[in-house]
Amino acid sequence: MNKIQMVDLHTQYQRLKPEIDAAMQEVIQSSAFINGPAVKQFQKSLSAYLNVKHVITCGNGTDAIFAALSVLGLNPGDEVIIPSFSFIATAEATGLLNLKPVFVDADPFTYTISPSEIEAAITPKTKAIIPVHLFGQGAGMNEIKEIAGRHNLHVIEDAAQCMGAGYNYGQKKRKLGTIGNIGITSFFPSKNLGGFGDGGACFTNDDELAEKLRMFVNHGAKEKYYHETTGINSRLDTIQAAILNVKLSHLNNFNLQRREVAGFYDNAFKNIDEIDIPGRNPDSEHVFHQYVIKVKNGKRDDLREWLKNKNIPSMVYYPVALHKQKAFEKLTDINTNLPVSEMLTREVLALPIHTEITHEQLEYIKNGVISFFNQ
Ligand SMILES: *Cc1c(COP(=O)(O)O)cnc(C)c1O
Repeated sequence: MNKIQMVDLHTQYQRLKPEIDAAMQEVIQSSAFINGPAVKQFQKSLSAYLNVKHVITCGNGTDAIFAALSVLGLNPGDEVIIPSFSFIATAEATGLLNLKPVFVDADPFTYTISPSEIEAAITPKTKAIIPVHLFGQGAGMNEIKEIAGRHNLHVIEDAAQCMGAGYNYGQKKRKLGTIGNIGITSFFPSKNLGGFGDGGACFTNDDELAEKLRMFVNHGAKEKYYHETTGINSRLDTIQAAILNVKLSHLNNFNLQRREVAGFYDNAFKNIDEIDIPGRNPDSEHVFHQYVIKVKNGKRDDLREWLKNKNIPSMVYYPVALHKQKAFEKLTDINTNLPVSEMLTREVLALPIHTEITHEQLEYIKNGVISFFNQ
């Protein structure tokens, strides 16, 4: 049996090698490394796949959040509602723009931002909500859009972990990332749709926002050397776009493989009292960027150590809730009491899930976990 890894990018590359090598060679031969034809092609293919009008690619997912927050006409001190149980990028971009992140608690079953807690956090200064579709499934977008509509708030969806997941938005089936005013994603190598380096994108159906986003990531210019505002330089490399074009054609299959692994784990662990398998939002598809269980009774770290001794890797996403991070000490009240987020930081454990994991490895992981609870 091969060594078990949290992600296995090398084996996936071996499987797709002929297609990926050909696409990369084409870029190298043309030497159009910046804004080459593959970039436009990828934007077009991704907007067709997501059924969204505009895809604006950029250098990484964090820049995409920064760009999204920059084009909404917000003022310093405006408040942005963000889940506390999440990756730092959303809150970081908010802080860098002198906006105030307001951290909100999570739903204990789906781990995504709790819509009822959002309502309670709204003040006259609130201008935007950034739901994060954590670990591969959607936050409660029907409720969130309804709240945003009532309070006249912008919605930026962080779709970095859920590329390809569908969502029942009202009567319509939509892709996550295309329901809010702007959606963002990341093509970091380990994401469900990942390149061979950094990459990111914004999505929107709004022509005016699309134009502003395009300018913002291109030094505030529509036409070279004619700058209408200041922006940043954030581009998706042509070579990354070429790789992503290949990988996009496999994305549905990748997500199916991840769902099969999740189904295996669900069955393996559903009868263990001290484990909660990940809860599902009934409106959302889950594409399992991560498979995250909760381990009860303070046993998470012991289980992790037990697995490590059997060469089974696992990870804690995330060990510290954002409202407890030193980075936000000066910006916001980090002593807020968000009990669900804090419980999650103590109980969550992510098990290996990726497109290359074998049945033999899954059986080994299953037996490793079960043996801990049968000691
Ligand atoms: C990965 C990730 C990002 C940031 O993406 P980068 O491309 O690494 O900047 C933002 N939000 C979430 C939820 C992520 O998982």
